[in-house]
Amino acid sequence: MVKKTTLLYTGKAKQVFATEDPDVLWMAYTNQATALNGEKKAQIDHKGELNRAISTLLFKELSAAGIPTHYIDSPDATTMIVKKATMLPLEVVVRNYASGHFVTKFNVKPMMKLDPPIHEYYYKSDELGDPFMNEAQIFALHEATPEQLREVRSLTDRINAYLTKRFNEVGITLVDFKLEYGTLKDGTLVLADELSPDNFRLVDQQTGASLDKDVFRQNRGPLTPVYQEVLNRLQEKGAAHV
Ligand code: 5GP
Repeated sequence: MVKKTTLLYTGKAKQVFATEDPDVLWMAYTNQATALNGEKKAQIDHKGELNRAISTLLFKELSAAGIPTHYIDSPDATTMIVKKATMLPLEVVVRNYASGHFVTKFNVKPMMKLDPPIHEYYYKSDELGDPFMNEAQIFALHEATPEQLREVRSLTDRINAYLTKRFNEVGITLVDFKLEYGTLKDGTLVLADELSPDNFRLVDQQTGASLDKDVFRQNRGPLTPVYQEVLNRLQEKGAAHV
């Protein structure tokens, strides 16, 4: 197994370490939860483990479905070993139903179906508050090439189709989510970052309850049982059903 060496980066919910292999990174999922661009912070028991477990399950399934990802292995409860990638400084947000900032911005009814689904891009910068970017702005600032963005769009559509169906199978609506991509040494574009209820809005189809970080953002109760419920449902009904 690879060994971690120096700490490279401390993010809001993960720490990233170098390893003895220059092409491999060590990601430690932490228990920290943040909201409002880091203004609201808390330590939540078991959050790191739950997000690592949900991410692992979904990265494995997406890889098996032919999506190139950075995932290599999950050697313990909070660790994920990944391929080193140069990240595109973009947050790719997909919206299947109106929620969050989309509702505020356009004053539409929450959970209005958005057909076709919307892709939005945000420039990853805590300092600037992750501003919205259109494609022309991305190209003018050389953050991605037109070819890379074409690939991002196509992979994002495939990921959305897979995840929408996967969550639907376990009684959950995938409302919206955020993805991040990077390129490997050989130029291959891969899905990176994490795939967890920190980045997804999920709604229980029976009760209408939120099964994601909105519970923390809006002080609606403890987060751990909510994330555990998402993991349990995904584990109970495997990918073979999709
Ligand atoms: P909204 O733009 O409505 O706040 O978020 C849309 C979706 O993208 C939500 O599922 C939200 O969790 C995710 N998202 C947007 N920005 C961020 C971010 O900076 N960090 C995380 N973890 N998720 C984000």
